Amino acid sequence: MRLDKYLADMGCGSRSELKKQIRHGQAAVDGTVIRDPGFAVHPDSCVLFCGEPVAYEEFAYYMLHKPAGVVTATVDARQKTVMDLLPGTVRKGLFPVGRLDRDTEGLLLLCNDGALAHRLLSPGHHVEKVYLAMVRGTLADDAVERFREGLRVDEELTALPAGLRILRKLDGPVEETEAEVTIHEGKYHQVRRMFRAVGGEVTALKRLRMGPLVLDPSLPAGKARRLTAEEIEALRAL
Ligand code: URA
Repeated sequence: MRLDKYLADMGCGSRSELKKQIRHGQAAVDGTVIRDPGFAVHPDSCVLFCGEPVAYEEFAYYMLHKPAGVVTATVDARQKTVMDLLPGTVRKGLFPVGRLDRDTEGLLLLCNDGALAHRLLSPGHHVEKVYLAMVRGTLADDAVERFREGLRVDEELTALPAGLRILRKLDGPVEETEAEVTIHEGKYHQVRRMFRAVGGEVTALKRLRMGPLVLDPSLPAGKARRLTAEEIEALRAL
């Protein structure tokens, strides 16, 4: 692979910036400064950029704490996307694994590993997703049982059995409930539609977990970080 592409893939900068930096002697391969951006790098070579080692990794994985008000898309002509929240130097080709509604916040995985994304999203794998929801309105008394048994949401959707845990109820002019929901599928507006079917309107929704991947409580909304080796291992073991 060309040296400038190798460094660009690893998030060191844009191809045009990198070409200049390489010509200025900022890259070395196997102990020799290389000034030719087209120099062919062997996968086992030791590459240094600005004095720092840059190992080549085929796949990159990021956890984003998605804030509300941002769309889950790679590009959008009008609205801010989740890609705009990633640091400028992440590698190319990342995409969000599944989607959260514009108003949903919480855990979103972004990667360039199509096979892993497919395993996480394919309906046959039934990967568990856990959400925290604030719901306005009086929920049906048998909401927990109906979620557990497989709720008939509307003409188009009967949900697979799901977990509903009522965490607290707030009394007021309109009752509010904080609840944890566990689902094994990802249909359009699924959680919002499920609550609507039992008498509630979701006013806030946050994804806490997807399979073994848990939203890092120290990651502020709007920030992303790379997954740890353990997190990647756990996802691959699915
Ligand atoms: N269910 C929803 O209704 N919205 C989401 O963003 C995710 C799950």
